Amino acid sequence: MKIECECGGTLHKVNVRKRHYRGGSFFYFERVEAEVCGKCGECYYSAETLHQLDLVADAQQATRVGKS
Ligand SMILES: [Zn+2]
Repeated sequence: MKIECECGGTLHKVNVRKRHYRGGSFFYFERVEAEVCGKCGECYYSAETLHQLDLVADAQQATRVGKS
């Protein structure tokens, strides 16, 4: 993961609320691990974190559609 933002600011590890788009729907997650720039506020997510969100979103989607 990056240590420095493109603007030159330092990144800080934080937990944020994230709206995640997956399979035509929005999913809301609390306390998603991210790195936020202290200077410009840009938010970075690791590939692993985004992958985890995809998996959870898929599971929720399956539940919504119904159990077969
Ligand atoms: Zn920045």
